[in-house]
This record gives sequence, structure tokens and C-alpha cells, in this order.
Amino acid sequence: MRQPGRRPKGPILTFDGCMRQPNICAACEGDVHEAFAVGSFLYVRCNRCGTLQLAETPQQDDLRQLYQQDDTWTSSKDTSLDDPQQEQRETRRRLTALRDLGIGVGRVFELGPGQGYLARALAASGSEVTVFELHEETTNRLRDHGINALRDLSSLQGQYDTIILWGVIEHLEDPFGVLSVLQKRLTLNGSFVVLTEDSSCWFARMAGRRWSWLLPPEHVVLFSRRGLEACLGRLGCRLVAYRSWPTVIRAIVSSALGQERALKWRHGFRTARRLVRASQGGARSRIVGVAKRILDTRLRLICEHKVYRFSMEPPRPPGIHSPS
Ligand SMILES: [Zn+2]
Repeated sequence: MRQPGRRPKGPILTFDGCMRQPNICAACEGDVHEAFAVGSFLYVRCNRCGTLQLAETPQQDDLRQLYQQDDTWTSSKDTSLDDPQQEQRETRRRLTALRDLGIGVGRVFELGPGQGYLARALAASGSEVTVFELHEETTNRLRDHGINALRDLSSLQGQYDTIILWGVIEHLEDPFGVLSVLQKRLTLNGSFVVLTEDSSCWFARMAGRRWSWLLPPEHVVLFSRRGLEACLGRLGCRLVAYRSWPTVIRAIVSSALGQERALKWRHGFRTARRLVRASQGGARSRIVGVAKRILDTRLRLICEHKVYRFSMEPPRPPGIHSPS
């Protein structure tokens, strides 16, 4: 019997109507071998670029349903759990990264903005911002904030200086297919900005099957740096710059606990925060608040993510030909 959320092995109909074979690397089309079983899911690793991906990808409809929930592992949409100060710090950090990467922020499209803190900050500083977010209530809230939040990705129009996928590409069933559609919306000098886990970082290699970012079914493809370069390279994009992105203490704790215990721990902690908030308990609220800040502290020495900037290869001058 087929397990819910998974599809039988075979070609996958992708975003742009192409067929992708699940037994080859989604990044570079290399061969893959079995890497880790996480729960009932199997990750395979590319022999060529080291990218990890689910051996059997979740069905798109199942993922769409999953992302209507307020409480997915990777992105809580429950606004009662927000810590405005922490969100502001994180948004400033992201804006600094964008500035350091030297991208244009005149017209920006963000795929999967979550609660939209970055999109709102960019819009507030004068950028023309369009987003597409699967979580419908969040889409409505973003519209209330004056953001052009699309109902459907196929309605994306216009040209953009920068297209941002911040913690999103690892969720895509067919990242190459989605990027190839988005690329048509980049201006000539436009850039992709991608933040994602690096499955070739030393912490991932050390943690192995306990690596906290092996999160099926949400995390479908976990790119290595080489794999992401190969994937974007297939679209004629080159890596212009990247920055390591420090990890948070909660991710280290999750790797140490292992996925099953980490899930229980996260559920317990989020429940405690909701209870404390509802009871408006003074001292307990402060203790839980301090605990959250500690868990959200970024450790500069350990980086499991990178922020990449990819741009189109400049066109060859007339008379210069590719070697045959
Ligand atoms: Zn590969």
C-alpha cells in the first residue's frame, strides 16, 4: 500500500510540465546512492555533487496541504509565537546580507516569504515587492501590508532585479523546473539570491543521519554548494558571491537530540510558549522568552547555511565562440 505523502517511483511531472527522473540528482543529474533513512523516508546522495534528496518525492498536493498548517517544522505561521525584537534583528541581518551581496533591490520577487518580514522591510525602504506564499492567511495579511502577494505563481508578470528564495529551494519538488520559470522574470543583470542549507558543510558531514535539516517531507532537496552551482549553471547562471550564514543554537540541539526527540521537544516548547502567553504569566513568560532567545542565538563559528548570489553569464562578445 502506498504511504500517504509519497509517490511511487517513476518520472515526476514537474512545475514546467517536464518529466524529472527521481533516481538522478535534482541538481546536476548525476547518479545517486542511498544515504540515510529518516523515519519512513529515504534520502539519497549524489555521487557527483553530494546533494541530498528524498528518494521518493512527496506529492505536490500533499505539500500544498501541509503548508496551509500554521505549525510546520521549518516555518511557524502562528503569529502568537512571534518575538518582534528577534524578528527585527533577523530582518536586519538579512538586509545586511543582501547589501553585502551587492544586488539591486528596485524590483524584487520573493518566493515563499513566510510571514514576510524581509518583504515588508524592503517595501518600506522603497522597493517594489511581489511575493508568492502558499499559506493563504499569510497571503491575505501581506496584502493588508500593501505587498503585491500573488494567489498563484503562474500569474507572475514583469521583470525583477532580484528574485529571492530564502529557505525555500530545499522545499521544492523540482527546483530546476521552478528556477527555470523564475529565470524568465529576471532582468538582464538580475540575480537570484538563495539561502539554503549546505549539505556539504562540515557540521552536516559530522552529524550524518542526525543532521537536524533532514526534515522529510518538507525538505525535499538539500543542496551542496557544488550542487547548487551545477543546478543554476544548467540555466546559464554563475555564482557571483556567497556568505556563510551562522546557525542557531536550536539547530545544534536538534541534531544532538535526533529527529524523534527533537520533534517532541519542539512541540513541548511551543505549547509552553502558547500557555504562558495565554496566561500572561509574568515570571514564567520571561523565563520562556529568555529560553527562546538563547535557542535563537546565532553561533558565528558554525554555519550550516549559505546565502548565494547567482547572475546570468554575460553574453559572449561577437566573434567569440564556444570551443567545439
Ligand atoms: Zn548532483
